[in-house]
Amino acid sequence: MPTTPARSALIVHAHAEPDSFSSAQAATAVRALGEAGYTVDHLDLYAEGWAPVLDRDEFPSASVPFKPQAEQLRAVKDGTLDAVVRSHLDRLLTADLLVLSFPLWWFSMPAVLKGWVDRVFAMGGVFGGDHGLFDEAALTGRRAVLLLTTGGSTWLSGGVPGPSGPG
Ligand SMILES: Cc1cc2nc3c(=O)[nH]c(=O)nc-3n(C[C@H](O)[C@H](O)[C@H](O)COP(=O)(O)OP(=O)(O)OC[C@H]3O[C@@H](n4cnc5c(N)ncnc54)[C@H](O)[C@@H]3O)c2cc1C
Repeated sequence: MPTTPARSALIVHAHAEPDSFSSAQAATAVRALGEAGYTVDHLDLYAEGWAPVLDRDEFPSASVPFKPQAEQLRAVKDGTLDAVVRSHLDRLLTADLLVLSFPLWWFSMPAVLKGWVDRVFAMGGVFGGDHGLFDEAALTGRRAVLLLTTGGSTWLSGGVPGPSGPG
């Protein structure tokens, strides 16, 4: 009997409140993907105390002037990437499916999640260096899903809550 290849999913969740709708939605995704046969890795950025700012402190021997992508490229090549960033990058690279779970803030992702992308999607680790761009990048062929919540005001939408501006 043919066997289905093992699949893995990384859910990166960004909501400060464990009892929020967004967090409940992420927990449902973890359960549903597990039931669908995925090995699920759940990364909760607020619970981990993820530091989102990409700056020179991450690279002890950064050159002057500071060039973030050049430093990422060098750190990946030399094996000196920050240990936490490296571990998150490894978790990303092993995932067949990436789920980004967050509340929509200013039509985008919260800063904690944007900073995860800034630091973990490192040049040389995901694209560039030994990887190329587009068809040659490390995650080419993988899938990604945005699992987000929005705000809505009944007075804005004429009675039907839904996506809106901040609020
Ligand atoms: C800085 C900022 C910028 C924003 N920008 C935007 C924007 O650009 N566009 C936009 O549309 N919105 C915006 N918002 C609003 C934001 O997107 C919503 O407040 C957020 O997505 C709501 O999700 P939540 O998980 O926080 O909801 P919650 O407040 O936790 O819950 C929402 C509702 O669901 C209920 N609920 C909670 N848990 C469950 C559950 N398990 N089952 C059933 N019901 C449940 C709650 O009781 C509540 O009524 C912004 C908010 C902020 C703070």
